[in-house]
Amino acid sequence: MHIEQIEPIVLESAIGTVSMPGGKSEFEATVTPVVARVHTDEGIVGVGETYLDDPSGHKAMTAAKGMEALGHELEGQDPREVQARWHEMYVHVKREGSFRAMSAVDEALWDIKGKAAGLPVYELLGGKVGQTKAYATFPLSKPAEQLIEDAEWLAEKGFPTMKIVAGHGVENDREKISTVAANIPEELGLAIDSNTTYGVKDAMKVGRTASEYDLEWFEEPISHTNVQGQAQLNRDLEVPVSAYQNHLAHYPAVDLLEANALEIYQPALDFVGGITAAHRVATMIEPYDKQLVPHAFGPAINYSASLHVAAASPVCDLIEFGVYSDKVDDPGEYIASPYVANQKDIYVQDGGVIEPPEAPGLGLELDEDLIEEYRLN
Ligand SMILES: [Mg+2]
Repeated sequence: MHIEQIEPIVLESAIGTVSMPGGKSEFEATVTPVVARVHTDEGIVGVGETYLDDPSGHKAMTAAKGMEALGHELEGQDPREVQARWHEMYVHVKREGSFRAMSAVDEALWDIKGKAAGLPVYELLGGKVGQTKAYATFPLSKPAEQLIEDAEWLAEKGFPTMKIVAGHGVENDREKISTVAANIPEELGLAIDSNTTYGVKDAMKVGRTASEYDLEWFEEPISHTNVQGQAQLNRDLEVPVSAYQNHLAHYPAVDLLEANALEIYQPALDFVGGITAAHRVATMIEPYDKQLVPHAFGPAINYSASLHVAAASPVCDLIEFGVYSDKVDDPGEYIASPYVANQKDIYVQDGGVIEPPEAPGLGLELDEDLIEEYRLN
């Protein structure tokens, strides 16, 4: 089998345009998907996906160009030799390419390998290990009182943890943490994400409050490049420090592990280098007793890839799940990708468990009519 063509498909964000009652203004982020459709000479077609917060679609076009460039490298090669293709892509990408493009193509190669073998990707990764639950990322910017109301709804569904946005100043964050943590259901954990906003001193102040209220983790307190700063926070604070969504490939995990900088590793499959890189991060952190909690905020193909990695990792029992709207009946319903015909196969069960689709490969089928409707390129 060989690769004939890599076809990039840039799609309009479905968040805030179709699925979301209330329109875009309610939401801080869009999810603009770029699908890599990899065609082979034997008729098997694989799909992988990256995405950007990019309503204009301009940045997404860069990822699409990157996929075309990778196509020139990979055409004629066997897509089932994923490890070999990953390293060829890495050599290209580290010098002049797009990690977003590479990540999507890697996912598509695993999809092809699974379809050719008649097995879901998690089986190719060694099979399921334990159970994965979804935690709710609740991206809507709301005052603490409203977050508390929504917390009841999320707890009732069975999400073990709710993550809210921090990084809005030490005093603001402290007040939000203490108000929300003290008033949500006992069984619901709370995590905060400050998206690399702080320096070490302010992160320490916010982190002390997070520790006092027994938060589940403090995500990206400071710049992802500051390994020693993260190590200091991780050593001096009780709250576990998490990061990795801004890291590329599995190599930076070496320094982070040596410095004991993080308790929780959160590779973003759409950016880190796909299934191959995220799976390697999971393997590297296992002997250090660290946890994998994939960053998985985004569209369905990439989400499915993240679920397959989570299901097959002995150090992963939790994955991110974006609850994009407070107007849906069921917060466990997946709504970000109407162009995937069976996106309903991704859902959070009552009780919080989530599983990868069972069909071969990543287990998803595109709706070609909707692909054309959403397509920007
Ligand atoms: Mg984050």
